[in-house]
Amino acid sequence: MFGPKTHCIVVVGAQWGDEGKGKLVDVLAEQADYVVRYQGGANAGHTVCIGDAQFILQQIPSGILHDRCTCVVGNGVVLDPETFFQELDGLAAKGVKTAGRIFVSDRAHLVLPYHKLLDKAHEKSQNIGTTGRGIGPTYEDKFGRRGVRVGDLRHLDSTKAVLSERVARANKLLAMMGGTEVASEEQHHALLDRLAPRLLPLAFDTGRQVFQALREGRRVLLEGAQGAMLDVDHGTYPFVTSSNTTSGGAATGAGIGPTAIDEVLGVVKAYTTRVGNGPLPTQADPETEEELRKLGGEFGAVTGRPRRCGWFDATVVRYSVRVNGLTGLAVTKLDVLDTFAEVPVGTDYLLDGQPCDDLPADVQSLERVNPRYETLPGWRRPTTGARRMADLPPEARAYLDRLEDLSGAPIRYVSVGTRRDQIIEV
Ligand code: GDP
Repeated sequence: MFGPKTHCIVVVGAQWGDEGKGKLVDVLAEQADYVVRYQGGANAGHTVCIGDAQFILQQIPSGILHDRCTCVVGNGVVLDPETFFQELDGLAAKGVKTAGRIFVSDRAHLVLPYHKLLDKAHEKSQNIGTTGRGIGPTYEDKFGRRGVRVGDLRHLDSTKAVLSERVARANKLLAMMGGTEVASEEQHHALLDRLAPRLLPLAFDTGRQVFQALREGRRVLLEGAQGAMLDVDHGTYPFVTSSNTTSGGAATGAGIGPTAIDEVLGVVKAYTTRVGNGPLPTQADPETEEELRKLGGEFGAVTGRPRRCGWFDATVVRYSVRVNGLTGLAVTKLDVLDTFAEVPVGTDYLLDGQPCDDLPADVQSLERVNPRYETLPGWRRPTTGARRMADLPPEARAYLDRLEDLSGAPIRYVSVGTRRDQIIEV
């Protein structure tokens, strides 16, 4: 996708996350000089398989697995410093050299232990289906102008004083929510002391780094986490994450202007999954759901939670094309459908008996829609060996053509397996 006129590409999830963005980023990172994470935190696990080795990366961009790539954790990310260093150590243990190749924005907010306590206490009452890793409360502190940023570690004394107030505030909230756990001021201060010497050497104005890289004609990949339906503005609110997962968030979260972005690639599964609570209009019947889950290995990379599964929902992807300005689609996991005799596609919805081809804003309406389906013939042959469109069975090509028509964006990639080479560039 990179070329003389394409230097900056955003890769976003165009459904509910877990679409296989990690694999697409890995494939595109081969030609990239920089890979930048722009939102989310340690709740989004990317799984990347290289040969027989499997890497689960939560905060470090998967570009780290390509020697020539510089990786950036952008200002829009909320950084869990402990898991970040665990990931770095894990990569080093597998022989991946990271020195001088990973930078963290000094404007990124830190996820602290008290955020995790608050997250777990909130989840008990709200039941959103969050992973309890403190992401939501850290974004709350960011927008409430109470956060602690990476750059604050440069001023440990004043930051510790601020942190004492934050911990006291968190303990009041925890007591109000009937929690039994208490955040410790000493533990937080000790954490800052431990972190500062290791994190500060990696901390930079990364927006400026990326800006300069683009000026020099380098290739930059911006990597999103989760998917459009989990975007705090455009997703199925309130069953969403706390950040802008859509492409607009890539500009703000990487610290560059929107005009710097050349292409936006939306990653979609050939079917649909969702983890956590909230509406999923094309959710399949329990038996089919179980089959899709088993064939697709649909369990969370970080949490192991089973994902809810259903057929491709074109209304969701059309909407995603619109709110992200997608210039192309990457369809993943086509191979998961290889054994089905028929493959239904949700074309649009009926809402209170009326046709509805766009996504209602309120979950109450979205819970009530009835998807309308078109049933396409299955191909019942393995697609895992295909490397060109012409290698695919005609029924599989017809299926992809239909997804493209219904979605309104051209298919640029088709993924037919977990391995790096199991990809078709269209
Ligand atoms: P991400 O967060 O969007 O990167 O998605 P995850 O890593 O949570 O889930 C994607 C899973 O699907 C990983 O286990 C990938 O190895 C796997 N995967 C990606 N592309 C394909 C594909 O084309 N076929 C199959 N069978 N698995 C795939």
